[in-house]
Amino acid sequence: MFHEARIKLTLWYLLIIMAISLSFSVAIYAGVNNELSRIGNMQRARQARVDTITTFLTQNGLPIPPENQGPQEETVEAARIRIISVLGLINISIFVISGLGGYFLAGQTLDPIQKMVRDQKEFVSNASHELRTPLTSLKTEIEVALRSKDLGIGEAKKLLKSNLEDVDNMQRLSNYLLELNRYENNDIVIEINNVDLSTVVQKVIDQVKPIADKAEIKIAAKLQKTTIRGNEDSLNELSKILMENAIKYSGKSKAIEVKTKSGGILEIKDYGIGISKKDIPHIFDRFYRAEPSRSKEKIDGYGLGLSIAKSIVDKMNGKIKVASVVGKGSTFTVQIPTV
Ligand code: ADP
Repeated sequence: MFHEARIKLTLWYLLIIMAISLSFSVAIYAGVNNELSRIGNMQRARQARVDTITTFLTQNGLPIPPENQGPQEETVEAARIRIISVLGLINISIFVISGLGGYFLAGQTLDPIQKMVRDQKEFVSNASHELRTPLTSLKTEIEVALRSKDLGIGEAKKLLKSNLEDVDNMQRLSNYLLELNRYENNDIVIEINNVDLSTVVQKVIDQVKPIADKAEIKIAAKLQKTTIRGNEDSLNELSKILMENAIKYSGKSKAIEVKTKSGGILEIKDYGIGISKKDIPHIFDRFYRAEPSRSKEKIDGYGLGLSIAKSIVDKMNGKIKVASVVGKGSTFTVQIPTV
């Protein structure tokens, strides 16, 4: 599909360039031809005069002077042919050069579009794959329950509870997908205001506290006021993703640290499972999950949180980085431009 588009685009480039080049050539030829015709006419008139003088001199037995060296009729015709050949040669060269150049430029133009389509396809395929798992489980459980002739109320409740978990998972995934679409869509502009980062982070700490309590993890916070240019809801989402991850990947460790510092810095540190060197370059990719979190079924996730976090940071012209050692823990540092 893209090869066809590239050829078509090349042909369009070629058509435009050749139309311009040929128009110029025709104009140049017309101008030069006019001039040659004028010289031809002058030459003919002069020749007629020379002929008359020569006849007169011959009749009177006088010496004939050397022939006037002005351009002859044949010389003018040869110049015309030469000009046509030169223009033809120039046009052939322009055709070849612009054909090659056009093909290269068409490739350059289509490259980002091709990458976007490839990413989109991969995204749809990953999203459908992630949705299939809870859907299949939901369907199987309902089918089994429907086939059972003596389904008690207890069993039915257990089944509904499990179904609800699957529905929750799907809801979480669809929320993530919507978020990702919101932040990765360049047409959507988020409102940027002056926001005190420490206030937002404190709110998020209160929100994630129940999750931390459940995992028996203490959140140690050291929050310094720092006013940044950002969007409060997005900052809330960003801090929540990073804190939930710190809790989720804490392993046996029972504490995480959250800091805000002057200069628009947010630091979230855990002493958990850590991230291997080979995974670090990919953790911000959509649907990427490092091996330990894939194999240990307990750690839920879709590999979308950090891509959303990165898109949020990008929208606010900030930076996000991670330092991590396997088995020792990870520190995510975000820096958002200040006022
Ligand atoms: P999810 O947590 O849903 O898998 P994320 O996009 O939030 O997706 O994270 C991508 C991957 O990065 C995770 O699967 C995990 O392997 C790794 N990761 C993220 N945060 C941490 C952390 N604090 N400690 C260790 N690994 C982490």
